Amino acid sequence: MTPDRRSCIHRILVIDDHADIHEDVKKILGVTGCTSSLTNAKAALFGDGDTPTPRQSGHRFQVDAALQGEEGFKMVEAAKNEGRPYSLVLVDMRMPPGWDGVETIRHIWACDPDVQTVICTAYSDYSLDQILDQLGSSDRLLILKKPFDTVEILQLANALCEKWILHREAAVKMDQLERMVQERTAQIEHAMLHDKLTGLGNRTLLAERLAAAIERRRRHPDYRFAVLFLDFDRFKLINDSLGHEVGDLLLIEISSRLTSSLRATDMISHSTMPIRVGGDEFIVLLDDYREEPDAARVAQRLLDALSVPYLLNAQKLHLTASMGIATSERDYQNPADIIRDADTAMYRAKARGRARFVMFDANMHEEVATRLDMENAMRKAMHDSEFLLHYQPIVRLDTGRVTGFEALLRWNHAERGTLSAAELIPIAEETGIILPLGLWVLREACTQLCAWRKQYPEADRLVMSINLSRRQLLDPELVNQIHAIVSGAGLPRGSLVLEITESTVLEDPIEAIKTFERIKDLGIWLHLDDFGTGHSSISCLYQFPLAGMKIDRAFLRNVLTSKPHAVVLEAIISMARAFDLQIIAEGVETEEQADFLRRLGVGHAQGFYFGRPTDPASAEKLIQSGMAPAAKRELAGVAT
Ligand code: C2E
Ligand code: CA
Ligand code: CA
Repeated sequence: MTPDRRSCIHRILVIDDHADIHEDVKKILGVTGCTSSLTNAKAALFGDGDTPTPRQSGHRFQVDAALQGEEGFKMVEAAKNEGRPYSLVLVDMRMPPGWDGVETIRHIWACDPDVQTVICTAYSDYSLDQILDQLGSSDRLLILKKPFDTVEILQLANALCEKWILHREAAVKMDQLERMVQERTAQIEHAMLHDKLTGLGNRTLLAERLAAAIERRRRHPDYRFAVLFLDFDRFKLINDSLGHEVGDLLLIEISSRLTSSLRATDMISHSTMPIRVGGDEFIVLLDDYREEPDAARVAQRLLDALSVPYLLNAQKLHLTASMGIATSERDYQNPADIIRDADTAMYRAKARGRARFVMFDANMHEEVATRLDMENAMRKAMHDSEFLLHYQPIVRLDTGRVTGFEALLRWNHAERGTLSAAELIPIAEETGIILPLGLWVLREACTQLCAWRKQYPEADRLVMSINLSRRQLLDPELVNQIHAIVSGAGLPRGSLVLEITESTVLEDPIEAIKTFERIKDLGIWLHLDDFGTGHSSISCLYQFPLAGMKIDRAFLRNVLTSKPHAVVLEAIISMARAFDLQIIAEGVETEEQADFLRRLGVGHAQGFYFGRPTDPASAEKLIQSGMAPAAKRELAGVAT
């Protein structure tokens, strides 16, 4: 409490075994009306004339008295406890039969360290040094030799009370300062452990809490906890189509739903909390639940709460989440492991159709391990040059001429023989190794085309088609890398096609389209791959800067047996023409199919009928002859 200087009446205690001293001090300090000694004192202090009373000089006093040290000490103690402490204590040195002054002061200081103290001693008492020896030197202590002068007492009282106030003010300020520092520190700590947008805990807090939970589990095997890893399905689409502000509002709403449905759940401890681990990923650390199925029950409740439509800016949004759960049953040793397993289970939930939860089990662990082995093996294979490209011809349906090749990845596996892209690419994508591998494919295919162009005049107008994967498209360095590779190889504009599928761009179509434009600016064509597989929509045809589209072989298969498919294909073809897109039919395996496509006016085709993907040497033979064998046969057939 800050002492108020104006209203403050200072409490002074005189401890002296002579009652007349008590009275003297009271008189001097103006407590019991003016006496001649007081008037003298005032005159001495402030000069004659309009003499101010002590009250006007700033301080007013209330003087109490005790005859013995112990009694005085008790009064100090009581005053302190009442919250009305003494400002000043005057203590006589000798007070037989009880405590002497030194003893009394020692007690008083132990109880009230702020009180200013004057010890009154006669010349025959202790020496100054002796007193200091016993009490230690302190700025709270003054020694006043007896007999004392009235002026001295008045001066002392004023000065020491002023000092007492300053001291207290400083202490209050220090207190405030300390509180401010504490508050700021708490704020900083909070910021370090919490997500700014939603106010939920962040990764750092999660790591702390998880480490504590793991430790607790080690000591108390009955204690259970679980990590629920949540990822929202197609959140990015909402973010991109409605803007980040709506995305942010959505995240805040999600957070409050998580918090309130956890609060309303009685199967778990109150310390259960949701954490935002980044983007649209959340983790709930279920703390101290009773029995194993509780984790699943809580998970389902959360998913239900989260799937209720969101009303934002007068728009109704539907959103679902996929969740993976890992529980303490597996006795994890560190936080990263349990998060990794929950994450793995979450991906499984997505793969099983999203909007659901999946509990992690040991089999997934094995799959993860296998994938990890595969990843390592792939890295090694890159290093040992075990990857190679096969080239499948693309032909003009009307003339049968080879117009280009599609580069397809193969792995010359020491034990498993040649592995196809279908076996490799999904793992390469999942593990991220597709990034270096994809670059290698680009470089290798470009180098090959260059070599052919130098060696064979027929290769002059050949176009090389290369597949791009989703992960590659998300890499912000991709276009620069492509540019470096193409210009390094010295390939002319228009000699490269990059094949993309619509699914590769679903996550961030706006960014993807920007990337496509930049690729196009490099003089590289873009073809939409796998058209008709269900991944593709017609809107791609005019949204993307495409030069061509490849009709998937599944679609082609249906075309021959199903009239509706044939009608749709016809419509697609006329639309593609309208957009000036080249059409390439994939997976042509029979003469019948080739004929059918020709009749529909499809320009190009690719498939086992015209040539399987082959090694560079066999591809060279095709280049030299200029024609796929099937086409040759057909032409020969036509001629005879
Ligand atoms: P895709 O781009 O649709 O390539 C065509 C796939 O169909 C190839 O399989 C090819 O061998 C196969 N194929 C070609 N003609 C026929 C046919 O007449 N009948 C049948 N049944 N199949 C035929 P592959 O080489 O296993 O490649 C599978 C997929 O892997 C490719 O599908 C492509 O999406 C991806 N891929 C291949 N190489 C690469 C690459 O270097 N990078 C990336 N990112 N993906 C690649
Ligand atoms: Ca392709
Ligand atoms: Ca394809």
